[in-house]
Amino acid sequence: MSTLTRARSAELFERACSLTPGGVHSNVRLASPPVFFERGSGAWLYDTDGHDYVDYLLGQGPNFLGHAPPSVTEAVAREMRRGSVFGAQHVLENQAGELLLDSLGWADKVRFGVTGTETDQAALRLARAATGRTKFVRCGGAYHGWLDNVLSTTVDGQSEPASAGQLPHHLQDSYVVPFNDAAALDTVLTEHDDIAAVIVEPVMCNTGVIPPVPGYLENVRRLCDQRGVVLIFDEVITGFRLALGGAAERFGVTPDLAVYGKAMAGGWPVAALAGKASLMDMLAGAVTHAGTFNSSIPACAAVIASLSLLREHPPYAGVEAHGSKLMESIEKLAARHGVPLRIQGLPAAFHVSFGDSEVIHDHTGLAKLDLAGYAEFAKTLANHGVWVAPRGVWYVSAAHGDDELRAATERIDAALASHAE
Ligand code: PLP
Repeated sequence: MSTLTRARSAELFERACSLTPGGVHSNVRLASPPVFFERGSGAWLYDTDGHDYVDYLLGQGPNFLGHAPPSVTEAVAREMRRGSVFGAQHVLENQAGELLLDSLGWADKVRFGVTGTETDQAALRLARAATGRTKFVRCGGAYHGWLDNVLSTTVDGQSEPASAGQLPHHLQDSYVVPFNDAAALDTVLTEHDDIAAVIVEPVMCNTGVIPPVPGYLENVRRLCDQRGVVLIFDEVITGFRLALGGAAERFGVTPDLAVYGKAMAGGWPVAALAGKASLMDMLAGAVTHAGTFNSSIPACAAVIASLSLLREHPPYAGVEAHGSKLMESIEKLAARHGVPLRIQGLPAAFHVSFGDSEVIHDHTGLAKLDLAGYAEFAKTLANHGVWVAPRGVWYVSAAHGDDELRAATERIDAALASHAE
């Protein structure tokens, strides 16, 4: 397959840059090549120049059921005829809430929101209110959204603002520990009595897709219990993707609160805060959580249709099988072309980069990887019809089957050949 040319996308991008800073509506997209898509269907994206792409970016994760999954699209279209948002309760809310809580198994109550970013903030606020303490612990390299108290980068071992204009003092509301290091967490919890919560991505999907080492999440749970600290799982990526009950089910560790998003609504913008009644009931008055678009009709319809599909036709074994075969193919092809690609993670979400093949266990390991080099290679992949995130995460959906595997393998082979030239 020859390298793709995109005259129409180039024209659209030039116009977009005159309308929109950087030509994009989320800074995360600045690193991707400027391709304009017309539509997505299943595991495929179609651009304005007539090219197709096997999609392993999945909109940064939400399209776990593939693009435009028919039962979700039909349910949303049907229910939207009733209206969109009432600023009041409606009949789909209970059904969506029941399905979600029943799928999780451990949580008593749920509040729907729109984005992971704001729902993480609701969880932190709730933990502060419940404990009367002010600070929280997070892991280096974790992503909990783009707001001032959680967006950071590490400079000389210190947590620093990652954006101009960010208020640096907001980062002083948290202590940062390495992921997979229960001893470091123990030390911080021992030294400080002002900690309300520990927030953790159970798999560090935003940092090299790092799974928890055996016993780590159990130890985090135990340490939080010992100190009366609220344990928050940020399951925005892992939720409904690693298992119906997310990482909590997959690793057998139950948090006090958890935040969901992405995979729970077939591509629709929905997030959820779920947790123990003793905490969640504080939202009945004392603790404010609000949002004009929370639990809108399309959102609830999308949750009901998506969770019904995930429960009636669980895609998990197929996703794992596709992911395993794909990881294996990438490894073999890279070796054949003599390109030092390294892969780690779970089959449903894994990380590809250049660099040292040693498995990394926390954010410090990222320094050993050539992330910038990989970001360039992601453009080569796009030029050969494979759409991936420049930061190295690959997501597999329920819509990826044998045809996609065959197409992806051929296209990755061509991209590696062109890289190796
Ligand atoms: N938490 C995690 C683990 C995420 O990966 C993300 C987004 O990628 C967020 C929170 C923020 O979610 P959103 O982009 O919906 O605000």
